[in-house]
Amino acid sequence: MLKGIAASQGIAIAKVYKLEQPVLNIQKEDADPDKELAALDAAFKKTVADIEKIKEVASKSLKAEELAIFDAHLTMANDPEFRNMIEEEIRNNKENAAFAAKTVSDQMVGMFEAMEDEYMRGRAADIRDVSFRLMCNLTGLEIPNLATLDKEVIVVAKDLTPSDTGSLNKEYAKGFATEVGGRTSHSAIMARSLEIPAVVGVKGIMDTVKTGDLVILDAINGEVITSPTDAQVEEYKAKAEAFRKEKEALKALKDQPSVSTDGHKVLLVGNIGSPADVEGVLNNGGEGVGLFRTEFLYMKSEDDFPDEDTQFAAYKQVLEGMNGRPVVIRTLDIGGDKKLKYYTFPEEMNPFLGVRAIRFCLQRKDIFRTQLRALLRASVYGHLCIMFPMIATVAEFKEAKGIYDEERAKLIAEGVKVGEDVEVGCMIEIPAAAVLADQLSKYADFFSIGTNDLIQYSMAADRMSQAVSYLYQPLNPSILREVKMTIDGAHKHGRWCGMCGEMAGDELAAPVLLGLGLDEFSMSATSILKARKIINGLNYEEMKKLADQALEMDTMDEVKALVEKTLK
Ligand code: PEP
Ligand code: MG
Repeated sequence: MLKGIAASQGIAIAKVYKLEQPVLNIQKEDADPDKELAALDAAFKKTVADIEKIKEVASKSLKAEELAIFDAHLTMANDPEFRNMIEEEIRNNKENAAFAAKTVSDQMVGMFEAMEDEYMRGRAADIRDVSFRLMCNLTGLEIPNLATLDKEVIVVAKDLTPSDTGSLNKEYAKGFATEVGGRTSHSAIMARSLEIPAVVGVKGIMDTVKTGDLVILDAINGEVITSPTDAQVEEYKAKAEAFRKEKEALKALKDQPSVSTDGHKVLLVGNIGSPADVEGVLNNGGEGVGLFRTEFLYMKSEDDFPDEDTQFAAYKQVLEGMNGRPVVIRTLDIGGDKKLKYYTFPEEMNPFLGVRAIRFCLQRKDIFRTQLRALLRASVYGHLCIMFPMIATVAEFKEAKGIYDEERAKLIAEGVKVGEDVEVGCMIEIPAAAVLADQLSKYADFFSIGTNDLIQYSMAADRMSQAVSYLYQPLNPSILREVKMTIDGAHKHGRWCGMCGEMAGDELAAPVLLGLGLDEFSMSATSILKARKIINGLNYEEMKKLADQALEMDTMDEVKALVEKTLK
């Protein structure tokens, strides 16, 4: 059995289809530039046609949002600068087009991979993908095409490129396992979106299996069982059936309220990154949006901060889509690891402790004001809650709220309609804010706890570092005490308290959070129904006692054991 990371839940049993890219062996050769330029032209045309064809197949199973990757590839394949650079190499060195393409591609990939910015580093994969296709077309090599699968298989690959996942035919690709990748890699995100079971980061799988081998993909526990016995196959068939039934049964909860057995109601809502994600929240029974990470709007923009009208259109679309349900939109959380193509952040030793989120907005009030105006204008289209990220002090919150009040007054004076019931809240993701929550709640209409950062800052453990990832301990009593302080602080002044970090969707945390009095749980859309099933089976009064016990424990493991016993 091989271990990996369960990237998209489910179980599949089928024969392996090993996706091995052709091996390119391109050497420099002397050649006639005219001939090579003509070959390059033909190869570019075929590359564009290939990507368009894959996009067409993919458009049957993927959302417009996910198809954007193919547009990025098409832009690359049509980029005159990329092409000119290769043509130049051919003319200057009188060499074969394939070698010229390789030289330019290697240079560009190296340049993008060396960039600090995670988004820009990600572009290296796009360049590699397009260049590989171009070089195969130049050398006459066939690239295996998953779109032509005609029997049920589990796809095994080193990694799957976006074009691979896009051309997966769900009818035959029952799941996939990759040698590399993590929970947030491209292929993992695509798998969740396609709802295909996937295990990523399975070290050694490429050397262990070959096409035609029977395997069991347990994408619940993150395991690949190679050479299974008949008994194992039967056991997993039963497990797969149970999983399918559970998923089906969960659908019945889609339009149900989220309420404990003794009548305590909470809200289960979704985290989104773009207006296109609203559909997923509604399909999974989300009662609202608890976090719209607006930075994606800024990161997607090519050459400048998105203007007021562009932002207005996006916010309006989300509010209208949610049809009166509450929508929490977070103001710009940029800096740290989130960079922009069109703006250079000053160098800092510790960007995560530097000018990010509200700190940046309070320095660049012009950018902040534009966003607030767009939000206020959109506020008439639904139930808008605005929240400020990374608030550390009461003074910061009051300053941000003051700017909001000014923009609101200006719009009204200009005769622009704004919503009457907009709520303005505060993210609690810095320990100082959690400790002072009972003071902050005098001014903020609500809180939302960002546990991803709250835990990082409380444990002093970089959330991007694998080496200290053991300190990500949502159930450690120290974190639970901060959560309690925040919830109690909100309630002291009659405010509601939500949570939008990963902890909100953690099945083991749910009973404790319910007992601590959390009012709103915001998580990825596909976790909502399972969370509802758990909450609707719990007794609030009993969970209060459970939470009290957990707060007095020494370690995360003790809390885990307590919750596991309770859930049984
Ligand atoms: C958090 O910090 O928990 C959070 C929800 O924000 P992000 O993950 O975007 O920093
Ligand atoms: Mg955060």
